[in-house]
Amino acid sequence: MQENIIIGVAVFIFGMLIGSFLNVVIYRIPKGESISFPASHCQRCHTPLKWYHNIPLFSWLFLRGRCAFCKEPISMQYPVVELLTGLIFVILYLKLGLVWYLPFVAASFTALFALVMIDFKYMAVPDNVNFAALLFALIQPNFLDAMMYGAIAAGGLYLIGLLSSLIARKEAMGGADVIVAGTMGALLGFPNFFMALFLSAILAMIPAMVWREKGVPFVPFLALATLIVYLYDTQALHLLDTIIYG
Ligand SMILES: [Zn+2]
Repeated sequence: MQENIIIGVAVFIFGMLIGSFLNVVIYRIPKGESISFPASHCQRCHTPLKWYHNIPLFSWLFLRGRCAFCKEPISMQYPVVELLTGLIFVILYLKLGLVWYLPFVAASFTALFALVMIDFKYMAVPDNVNFAALLFALIQPNFLDAMMYGAIAAGGLYLIGLLSSLIARKEAMGGADVIVAGTMGALLGFPNFFMALFLSAILAMIPAMVWREKGVPFVPFLALATLIVYLYDTQALHLLDTIIYG
């Protein structure tokens, strides 16, 4: 029991370190910048950060959300992304235990999380992060199943998109959504992939009505629904069973 708590804390800290890297990805990839060079620096005064300015969450709290050199406020995005990534790692550890593929599942959800943040900030979904999520989703014990479900999910969504754009005579679904569907299929398998699709449509309903003119990015709802159905996979299956067979 005590051992589990120690592992859980270690997983959380590791997740927050990954979250720290994720901030760099979210900030630099949409601008076409390198993620390794230059080293972390303040966005305003460009002073390189010391190692103790780079500790996830704590540095932000310790610096009270301001640059140590020029006192420019540091975006809330940094500590929030670090905290959420740490939490994603911990809940996946609680779900799966310390299995060899935990880092890959966590990496896949982390890449989806990066997509969500970039989609919110820039209304864009970069292909390299999208493909990274798909690749990580395939590294698991049921590799062949994951490949098959991923391919069917992506192919199915591509066909639906093709049909609806023929009918509506305009682009109905982006290529990015097709890749995300592949990741969802690989992570969830069938029939839970459909449960997640259905759940994402429900989650997106109210925001889509509120921000009708501006348009709502759909990837965040796909990703959130995927995480929920992944965590509650047996409950989702049971629910589907009840719906179909009463
Ligand atoms: Zn500064």
